[in-house]
Amino acid sequence: MNNFTFYNPVKILFGKGQIARLAAEIPVTARILLTYGGGSIKANGVYDQVKAALAGHTVFEFGGIEPNPHLETLLKAVAVVRAENIDFLLAVGGGSVADGTKFIAAAARFAGDPWDILAKQAPITAAVPLGTVLTLPATGSEMNGTAVVTRAATQEKLYFGSPLVMPVFSVLDPETTFSLPPKQIGNGIVDAFTHVAEQYLTYPVGAPLQDRMAEAILKTLIEEGPKTLADPTDYAARANFMWCATMALNGLIGAGVPHDWATHTIGHELTALHGIDHGRTLAIVLPSVLALKRDSKRAKLLQYAERVWGITAGTEAERIDAAIGRTRAFFESVGVPTRLGDYGVPTETIPLIVERLENRGAVALGEHGDIDPAAVGKVLALSV
Ligand code: NAP
Ligand code: FE
Repeated sequence: MNNFTFYNPVKILFGKGQIARLAAEIPVTARILLTYGGGSIKANGVYDQVKAALAGHTVFEFGGIEPNPHLETLLKAVAVVRAENIDFLLAVGGGSVADGTKFIAAAARFAGDPWDILAKQAPITAAVPLGTVLTLPATGSEMNGTAVVTRAATQEKLYFGSPLVMPVFSVLDPETTFSLPPKQIGNGIVDAFTHVAEQYLTYPVGAPLQDRMAEAILKTLIEEGPKTLADPTDYAARANFMWCATMALNGLIGAGVPHDWATHTIGHELTALHGIDHGRTLAIVLPSVLALKRDSKRAKLLQYAERVWGITAGTEAERIDAAIGRTRAFFESVGVPTRLGDYGVPTETIPLIVERLENRGAVALGEHGDIDPAAVGKVLALSV
């Protein structure tokens, strides 16, 4: 096992009715900025629950954070934070609202050009404390210190991370997610699955506990995902899916093991250029990364085949092919197509993505740093 530091101070309030407990988590003297997206929280009653819970607190509001949150929008919220002396941010929504709010938290206390937080990975030394009320299980943003932000003007989608933007608390009430359309559930299943895959399908470092925790999340997603899609108001299935998504990217399964993240890096380009939902880009890319890197990932792919999919028959190559095929079929089964052509992406996009990553110096992706621009081109060619 590799050395690691594990730090996760996020307090989770999980289950029905937990929004009512919000007030106790935020100082009564706080000047709160409630951040949200395009209005789903007003349609499904979550906004009313949050406002009722915060009666007695001073609450300002900033709505309109779009999916794949835009730098341009978030900077407007930063101005509100500064003008109104906001000292607590409450993100109510999906991963985009949570991520966007993390960026607002850091940018509001950042002295230079906030774009440097993303483009230059400028160190974060202070941030406004934040909490989240999560309405979309997918990203794990509710229990980590990472955020992904898009500069619309240049179609660049970049991430940053800091322990200072880990939420103080996150409220996870599965009932707030019952209003999600099936497409977002499918996206969330694929996003959570891929978060696990990027930390598990790497080379073995003798970490059987992390392996088995990762396998447990994958198997639970495979069992509960279709149930929660079939019956959106099945509380048990939705609760299990929701907790899987959180556990997939809160640092626990990734402690002490190599990480890949090539699929996410390539996927972000597809979102930036073609507006494809995050989870859907991962469904396009992950099976192809696994296929291309089948030799360096051989031991884990065989373990994955056997323990997650029960594949024991055939040669090693056949078992690996079968495991990759089952992964693709699972994504398709939850309503997420896995080919570039399914989204109308022309093959001309492939050299463009290769060039964009090259220009940004993203030339050594994957756990071995051996996914160079040419290899990215091969991955995308396998996804046509
Ligand atoms: P999202 O972009 O936050 O939301 C997608 C859509 O779902 C929005 O239109 C939103 O509408 C709607 N929605 C949310 N909750 C709903 C509900 N309960 N009922 C009905 N509609 C609802 O989706 P996401 O998948 O959670 O987040 C994706 C973003 O997270 C991407 O930018 C991705 O790169 C990033 N990400 C971050 C991490 C991380 O570790 N931080 C990891 C993976 C991905 P409204 O806007 O109206 O609310
Ligand atoms: Fe993701």
